[in-house]
Amino acid sequence: MIALTHFKSHGMGVIGGVLKNLGIGAQSKRGKFNVHMGGHPKYGVGAAVKFDESFVVDKEKDLEWELIEDACPIGLFKIREDNTIAWDRDKCMTCLGCLGVMNPRGIFEPNQMLFDATDIAIADAALGVVKTVPKVGFVTLAIDISPKCDCAGFSDMPIVPNLGVFASTDPVAIDQACVDAVTESPGIPGSLSEEMGVDAAGERKFDLAGAAIEGLSEQTTINTAVVNGLGTRDYELHHVEPVGREKFRFPFDERPTRKRFARMFEKFQPFPFDRHDGQGYDRLPEVDIEAVKPHEGPTVGTHSHAAYHGDGTSHGPNGHGAPENQWHPGEENTRSHSTTHEH
Ligand code: SF4
Repeated sequence: MIALTHFKSHGMGVIGGVLKNLGIGAQSKRGKFNVHMGGHPKYGVGAAVKFDESFVVDKEKDLEWELIEDACPIGLFKIREDNTIAWDRDKCMTCLGCLGVMNPRGIFEPNQMLFDATDIAIADAALGVVKTVPKVGFVTLAIDISPKCDCAGFSDMPIVPNLGVFASTDPVAIDQACVDAVTESPGIPGSLSEEMGVDAAGERKFDLAGAAIEGLSEQTTINTAVVNGLGTRDYELHHVEPVGREKFRFPFDERPTRKRFARMFEKFQPFPFDRHDGQGYDRLPEVDIEAVKPHEGPTVGTHSHAAYHGDGTSHGPNGHGAPENQWHPGEENTRSHSTTHEH
């Protein structure tokens, strides 16, 4: 397997590199719930999130209050008669669907542990993938390094300039090399790296310009993948010079035409040599090319067919047949252009 990865940030994973690509992207639906701490007695949303039991829904001020019940796909939220919220948290599967509704209203207090534990689990899930396939290599495109993942419903200016393409057989080393390259790079002016004050070369970028909440670390998943034996943080960079365009130019056939096509023409000859004395087609021997090139219009008269009126008759420009200088291409027995042609 070749794991092709776009390197960027991620709100929960902090970095969206190879480990995240394997630890989330290569998981089944059930595996994704597992990695996100679904049902975990300490780190799952139902267990970990601080829930304001006394929160009272203000239906006058919060015009979208119905979202509170609608946020959960398995209906774990109910607004009581007194507008307090009942949450059946023991049944929570940690789909994360409600956080965007609960956190901004102050109903939930975001829990950093849930994010940290997920970042750790990503490394274990990535290990599971690598153990499943017999051989795996990694190619990472460190370009368009956006502050949020490709899974976000919007995009933003990359936080650093394009860094290139990385390749390795070690999924940990390649992520570490990309993180280090981002750290060493200056940020892009106007991007989130500048807004968060981490745009200087040498500053860690992802902890603040990538993570959804403060306190997460761009190293959590990488370090875990060292601990679980998936790979190493050590690497040696070998820069490969671009080979130039010549290697990739379109490989056209350089043989002369007869060598390329003679056999095809032996099989099938499309030109009708057997017709019209070998000329193939019945056409005028000569036309007045210059007469139809002027930008202001043709310098020869309108052909009677062009003035066909739809009633079975055709007329010249004067309405009484063809004018003297009419050109008659295509008419029976008319094989030349003449300004004195007679019908
Ligand atoms: S929306 Fe998802 S995370 Fe929130 S309570 Fe329901 S199951 Fe749990």
